[in-house]
Formats: sequence, C-alpha cells, structure tokens
Amino acid sequence: MVAKAPTRVFIGLGSNLAGPAQQVRQALRALVGLPATRLQAHSSLYRSPPMGPRWQPDYVNAVAELRTALMPYALLAALQRIESHQGRNRNSLHWGPRTLDLDILLWGRRRLKLPGLIVPHPGVAQRAFVLYPLAELAPGLDVPGCGRVEQLLAHVDGGTLTRVG
Ligand code: ADP
Ligand code: MG
Repeated sequence: MVAKAPTRVFIGLGSNLAGPAQQVRQALRALVGLPATRLQAHSSLYRSPPMGPRWQPDYVNAVAELRTALMPYALLAALQRIESHQGRNRNSLHWGPRTLDLDILLWGRRRLKLPGLIVPHPGVAQRAFVLYPLAELAPGLDVPGCGRVEQLLAHVDGGTLTRVG
C-alpha cells in the first residue's frame, strides 16, 4: 500500500558479525532498491562496543535518511526482508550478535504505538550510536516526545564511539 506524500524516515543500521562495515554498506545499497523510496542521505559509519552481552564483537552503526511513500508496516516488512537476506537469524539471543539490524527510528513527526512497531524507536534518546549519526545527518532535528538531537546527545557518553574510515 502507498501513502499520499513521501515521508521523511530515519533508519538505524547496525551489525557486529560477518564483516560489520561491509554488512552496513550492503544494507545501504539495499535501501536504494526499495520501492516507492529514495535514499536521501546516510551518516558516516561508527564503531562502538556492544550494548548487550559483552563477549560479542564491536558494532558498526549508521543512520540513513529516506523519503518513502510506503506505509509503516510495509517498510518494516521490507527492512526485515533485507535483514533476512543478509543472514539475520531472528531466533537468536536478544541484543546478541547479528549480521544486520535495521530499525525505524523516526517516521516524520509521528508517534506510533502499534503491535510490533513503536516510533520513535524506544532506544533513540539513550543510544550514542544512534544520536551521533543522527546529529551528523540532521542537525537540529527534533525527536518527537524527546527533544532536539543535540540536547539528547548531551546526556549520552560518546567516548567509546569511533568513526570508521
Ligand atoms: P532490537 O532491534 O531491539 O535488537 P529486533 O531487531 O530483534 O530487536 O526487533 C524485535 C522487534 O522489534 C521486531 O519484531 C519489530 O516488530 C519490533 N519493533 C518495534 N518497533 C520497531 C521499530 N521502530 N523498528 C524496527 N523494529 C521495531
Ligand atoms: Mg531491530
């Protein structure tokens, strides 16, 4: 199903298996191929220690900005197909290692609380590996219900985050 006007949507990308930086770059190319969607821009890639169990490898994260005419569930399904295509095992440990994680961070200025789809993504305001690339891509951006991205940045520790060359 297709909505009337394209919406500005931000996607969080993350990987810590099977060549994480390559996985993120491959996923960015897959976003280019989505129907009724344009990849407007993407951030640099950032490396950071894992948020869940500590034994797993470092993550590589980035944020992409889309313009899409897809409806939210249609985009979520398309993102999950990209994850599966890149070898994501959906039955594995929560916050455990994964080849690819694609999250819908923001959907225009909307707040959605639907079964299986919460936007803004619940982690946005607390996660340095989301906020730094988001601020790089969209300075001054207001996260609905949370505040400006720069204000949120002031409350997280970016010390462990490094830009991937
Ligand atoms: P996480 O990203 O928290 O590590 P998963 O990628 O395994 O976890 O996603 C678990 C579920 O989160 C998915 O089945 C999806 O339906 C749900 N979900 C809720 N809100 C969102 C969102 N904004 N973006 C992506 N998935 C979401
Ligand atoms: Mg996810």
